[in-house]
Amino acid sequence: MARGYDESKDRKNKISLFGKTLVRRSKSTCELCGESGQKLNIFEVGKIEVEPDYERCLHICNTCMDTIDRLKKAKENDLRFLNHAIWSEVNIVKATAIDVINQVEGKYSWIDDLLDMVYMDDELKGILDKIKK
Ligand SMILES: [Zn+2]
Repeated sequence: MARGYDESKDRKNKISLFGKTLVRRSKSTCELCGESGQKLNIFEVGKIEVEPDYERCLHICNTCMDTIDRLKKAKENDLRFLNHAIWSEVNIVKATAIDVINQVEGKYSWIDDLLDMVYMDDELKGILDKIKK
């Protein structure tokens, strides 16, 4: 009866277990915009699978989460985080930035320029394929 509920609770628990590792990886800053001193949320990128995957999680602030959630309405300033995220050494952060850029392509030239500067290796391409909706 309550199976669905238990599963989602179990999933939530698993995700919260990523928290500690994410704090270390992100050094308690938002992985997209680089801001520190913000409340950080665990955000799963792309299609939600049954089994949560640490490699698909981001540690991000409320502002960035809002921007990604309503990307179509994002203003130019809301997208400034791309300048930071695109240079991340964490592949999922970089892949998320590229995915966002692909979605807003052609709107702002500085954003299109970012994509030209990025070197995409096979690993990054693989992650990008995985998170595409
Ligand atoms: Zn942020």
